[in-house]
Amino acid sequence: MSKEKVKKYPVPSVRRLPAYLRFLYELKAKDRAAVSCTHISDELRLDPTQVRKDLAITGIVGKPKIGYMVPELIDAIEKFLGWHDCSEAFLVGVGNLGGALLNYPDFKKHGLNIIAAFDIDNEKIGKTFQGKEIFPIEKFQNLASRMHVKIGIITVPPKHAQEIANIMIRADIKAIWNFAPATLNVPENVIVENVHLASSLAVLSSRLSELYK
Ligand code: ATP
Repeated sequence: MSKEKVKKYPVPSVRRLPAYLRFLYELKAKDRAAVSCTHISDELRLDPTQVRKDLAITGIVGKPKIGYMVPELIDAIEKFLGWHDCSEAFLVGVGNLGGALLNYPDFKKHGLNIIAAFDIDNEKIGKTFQGKEIFPIEKFQNLASRMHVKIGIITVPPKHAQEIANIMIRADIKAIWNFAPATLNVPENVIVENVHLASSLAVLSSRLSELYK
């Protein structure tokens, strides 16, 4: 997805699209041809106006009394998210988290194919993990340029995250999926999506202690 697209459409709406898709896949499996906005909003516990707005970013508008045609809506969301074509990605840092991501087969369904991994640990370099070869980090730039890889995944310890981001930037990586709890400095034309598990967990635990104090 281009940076313009992310800027133009509200990020919370984009974040909700995979949840709509999951529900739509269920409906498709049950051969349901159409679905109303209210049905979707009830199922996902969202406001119907919000659902209408979210789905409109894909270019699809529901029809009065009918709602949305399920296959058409699935197609529009998948196209919007770029899930029709798989993008190839390189992962750096084959520790516990990196290994888990390499091991997860469903990213392909979401348009992401991790094709190789990189590390500095000589014990790991040269080995194959889940069918993906682990290369020395020094080879990142050369391989990324040769293979035209545009997505980089960072799963190294936080103190090394910026150094890896710099390598990715030099290799012309355009989108970084950052799992390291570190703030990255990148040029304007590079997209960074942070997945900070500790922040997410902080929200969960604070809500829990608020509710059950
Ligand atoms: P493990 O016990 O396998 O090291 P871990 O998840 O505890 O797992 P971390 O210390 O978080 O390990 O490091 C994650 C991975 O990142 C490790 O495989 C480590 O070798 C790798 N790594 C650390 N620094 C760099 C770097 N500068 N470049 C590439 N890989 C790195």
